[in-house]
Parts: sequence; C-alpha cells; structure tokens
Amino acid sequence: MTDTTKKPVEKLDALILGAGFAGLAMLHKMQNKLGMKARVLDKAGGVGGTWYWNRYPGARSDTESWVYCYSFDPALYREWKWTERYPRQAEILAYLEHVADRFDLRRNIRLNALVTSAHWNERSQRWDIETSDGDRFAARYFITGLGLLSAANKPLFPGEETFRGRVLHTGNWPTTPVDFTGKRVGVIGNGSTGVQVVVETSKVAGHLVLFQRTPQYSVPARNHPVDPAFLDGIADNLEAYFDRVRRSATVFAFEEARQGAMEVSADEREAVYEKAWQDGGGFNFMFGTFSDIATNRESNATAADFIRRKIAAVISDPEKREIMTPTDLYARRPLCDNHFYEAIDRENVSVVDVRKAPIVGFTENGIRTADGEIALDYVIFATGFDAVTGNFVRIDIRGRDGLKLRDHWAQGPRAFLGLSAAGFPNMFSLYGPPGPFTNQPPAIEWQAEWVSEAIRYMEEHGLSTMEATREAEQGWLDECIRIEAMTLFGKLDWWVSGANIPGKAKAVSFYMGGFGAYMKHAEACAENGYSGYALAGAQAAAAE
Ligand code: NAP
Repeated sequence: MTDTTKKPVEKLDALILGAGFAGLAMLHKMQNKLGMKARVLDKAGGVGGTWYWNRYPGARSDTESWVYCYSFDPALYREWKWTERYPRQAEILAYLEHVADRFDLRRNIRLNALVTSAHWNERSQRWDIETSDGDRFAARYFITGLGLLSAANKPLFPGEETFRGRVLHTGNWPTTPVDFTGKRVGVIGNGSTGVQVVVETSKVAGHLVLFQRTPQYSVPARNHPVDPAFLDGIADNLEAYFDRVRRSATVFAFEEARQGAMEVSADEREAVYEKAWQDGGGFNFMFGTFSDIATNRESNATAADFIRRKIAAVISDPEKREIMTPTDLYARRPLCDNHFYEAIDRENVSVVDVRKAPIVGFTENGIRTADGEIALDYVIFATGFDAVTGNFVRIDIRGRDGLKLRDHWAQGPRAFLGLSAAGFPNMFSLYGPPGPFTNQPPAIEWQAEWVSEAIRYMEEHGLSTMEATREAEQGWLDECIRIEAMTLFGKLDWWVSGANIPGKAKAVSFYMGGFGAYMKHAEACAENGYSGYALAGAQAAAAE
C-alpha cells in the first residue's frame, strides 16, 4: 500500500551531497557536460562548504590563491582576480558563489537540506535518499562531496550551561560578525584554525588566553597582494600550469625538493631553511626545502630545530616561550601564520599549558583549570573536527544487503582510490578516504572529471552498476598503509589518524604517495576498463 503521508519521490540521474568545491565541480560536470538530471543537497544556508561554515576571525586558506581554485574553465580563471597570496574566507566564498552563478548551478542546488539517509535499492538499482524534511529522491548515482573537515569536534567540559559568556566553535561560526573589541576571550586549540583566530582576535581583544595542549611548529605565511598580470600569465598557459601542479605530490605551486636534508652541509641546510622561512608557506617549508623531512627522523629534527630557534627569537617571555616550544616531531599538517608568535608575545595575550593545568570545566565567569578560574566573556573552541569519516557516519548510508557504511568503516575508512567503497554500487566520494593528502581544489576537480568520465562510460556501455571489488578496496588500503608507514605522519596523534577523537579507531585515512602518483593509479584503472571495479549490465534496471 502506498504511504500517502510521504512526499513524492523525485527521480534523478545523480544526487550530489555538499555544495563546496567538490559538489559544485561535480554538478557542473553532470549538468553542463553530461546533460544529466542532477541535484546538489547541502544542509547549509548557502553554497561554499567549508568556506560557508568557517567564518571565524582570520579564516583564510594557507594555499596560494592561484592554485586554490578550479582550472577547468580558462575564462573563469581569467576573469576572477584573487587579491592576496592567501585568500580570505570571504573571498573564497564569493568565488564559489560566483561559480554557482556563472555555470547556472543554483537551479539544481537545494540548500537547508539535511540528508539523513541514503540506501541502495537493489530492485530499482537506485539510491533512495531522504532529508530531515522528508524530501525523497531516487538517484542512479550517489556522489558525496562532504569534506573531510566539516563535522565539528567540540569536547565536552562540565558546566558549560552555567557560563554567562558566549561559547563559539570555529567550524560553526555565526553568519553575523562577533565583536571581540576589549573583551576577555579564551581560545581552546592551536591547530591551523586556532593559530589564525589568535592572530586576528589578539589585535582587538582586551585580553586573550590561549588554552594550548600541544605546541605547534608554525612558519611565516608571508602574505602579500597578487599582481593581476601574474594571474594572467598563468591563465595564458592554464592547462600546462595545472598539469604540472597536479603531477606534484602536494598540488601546490612551489617546486618540491629532491634532495635530502642530510645530503648537504649544515651551513647549506641553514641557508635553505632561512630562504624558505623568508619565502613563507607551511607546505613550502616542509616539502620545498628537503625531500625527506616528513620521512626521515634525522632530517625532521633539523627542520624542527630551525623552527624552535625562530620561535625563541620572537617570544620574549621565558614562561610563554617554554610553553610554546614544541619538542616532538615536525610531522603534523604544516602550519603557517601571519605573525602567530608575535601575537603570543603581546602583553594582552597569555597562554595556559593545559597539559600541566588541565581544563576542569566552565564556571559562571569563565573556565576553571587545575590552577584556578580564568574570567572570560567568550570561549572559542578551535578544537577541529571529527575528521575524515565524521560526516559520512552521521548519515545512515547503506549499500548492498543493508551494509551500513558506518559498520564497514568501523575500523577506519576503506574505499578503492578513496572514491568507491566495496558494497556501495554507483557511489563515489570526491576527496573521500583513504585518498590523497594535498591542496584540495585542483585535486577535487580532477576527481570530479574522473567520476564524470566513469559515468559517461557506464552510460555508453549500458551498464547499471559500477562497484569497487573487495580485492581492489583491500589492495588500495594496503598500499595506503604501506606508504604511510614510510612517513612520520602516523607517528603522532592528530586528526589524520582519528586520534583526536576519544574512542575513535585509529586508522590510515590518506594515500600519502602524492597526487601525481595517485593520478597514475586512477588513470590506469580507467584505461584498463575500470579495473578494480565490477561492472554490471542493465538488466535489473531495465526490468523495473
Ligand atoms: P586541529 O588541527 O585538529 O586542531 C585542534 C586543536 O584543538 C589542537 O590544538 C588540539 O590539541 C586542540 N584540542 C582538541 N581537543 C582538545 C581538548 N579537549 N582540550 C584542549 N585542546 C584540545 O583542528 P583545526 O585547527 O581546525 O585544523 C584542522 C585542519 O583543517 C587543518 O589541519 C587543515 O587541514 C584545515 N584547516 C586549514 C586552514 C588553512 O588553510 N589555513 C585553516 C584551518 C583549518 P592537540 O594538538 O593536543 O590535540
């Protein structure tokens, strides 16, 4: 019997989750290139993904603007003029809004639409997808562009409800600006986000307290205005330029180093680090100086020592300096900043080492640590994300035979090329795990093109399903594990392994072999008729 209380089902060729860099690129491919009936759903009130939510003070990309964008359309590249080396959140958001308008994407984007479930329907060979408002869709292809860093991680501290001030999370920032002028502001966390918040907020706050657990290695960003002629020069040679960028490991614009740090004399090493320090950029410092900083402990120690000496030269107060000086490996995502240590050095900034004086909880007036109460008007959580899998497991995604993605990934994410989990036919995850660890927009648009070509192949060959085999999925995971073991990234507890979330299984979540090598894997798969995938004919769908 038909359930008349339910909304009618909208049939689609493709349903795409998320209106960030991934979702917009994918919608463009489906709608404008393949001419398919596709729709993007996003729980946000606007397009932009990460850049919609992360509006905190100081938010900007730490990748150069001229490669933090799409390259698929030369006219788009030529007409959009980035103003700074590192684009501000508002500028990136404006860019994505412009893309949505320019390619007429908005007519197929539905906002404020929270997808709660996506179930593979064996009979119809479609994905049955529902939102929290009861909207229903049946789509042949289910494509996620969920972002690896968007499910906010907000640790629970007792007594928050008694706090008379305001609590904010950087990943869920209000759309109306917050004025911290003259206020007492606490910031918990000093990752890429916390560093930006501290720099910007310390300029106006009456007093800012950074609650820090693990000190970071951060290098100067050296932001500067961009000459439009420089952007035109790239536009003149767009395809070749981006092909070179993508064939690198990190998908940045700088030249990656080929020589190991221990292959040169101490003086030469110092000169290379000093130059990178002056040039600015976190990835540049880690991957543009020497080839083995992220793989060789001895080399890593030389970079860490250099940064420690720079920190010591900036922070004048001995107690602050000691708290801010990292002692472990330089093997988290490399940070860069617009004068972070100078901000810490300010008189209106103090630092609490929460490893020595843990946060006990909130009080009416502020935060109590083991050392006493600190009065605050605002507490900003810059505590990051339930990264990588967080957004996926919040949705009830079920593949063949009711297989739940959250069960399939209970011990960590597994998916061939980071795109396709076995048992989840016709589902593709752009920048999904375990996938490349790179500057994202150029990598994402390349994957969107790859997926659209796979879909074109299916359509042209009258196929109904395309599904990664268990062997391919396992083989890919083994390769990711093998490569990660050669790096130092897995040696520390941070979000790449899930270690930042209490109780979450530690896992290998990335392919650390570089995007150039990743492309070769994905290209070989396509050239060999999508080897690693089981492709099935259209009988079942036709019988519907
Ligand atoms: P994050 O790197 O995970 O940093 C979270 C911070 O919160 C860490 O300092 C962490 O300390 C601290 N923290 C977490 N739980 C805590 C607790 N219970 N008590 C005290 N401190 C706690 O998160 P993020 O800074 O938001 O950055 C995540 C990623 O987003 C980055 O790695 C980057 O990929 C991306 N991002 C990029 C940019 C950019 O392009 N500039 C900006 C922002 C974010 P521990 O280190 O001790 O765990």
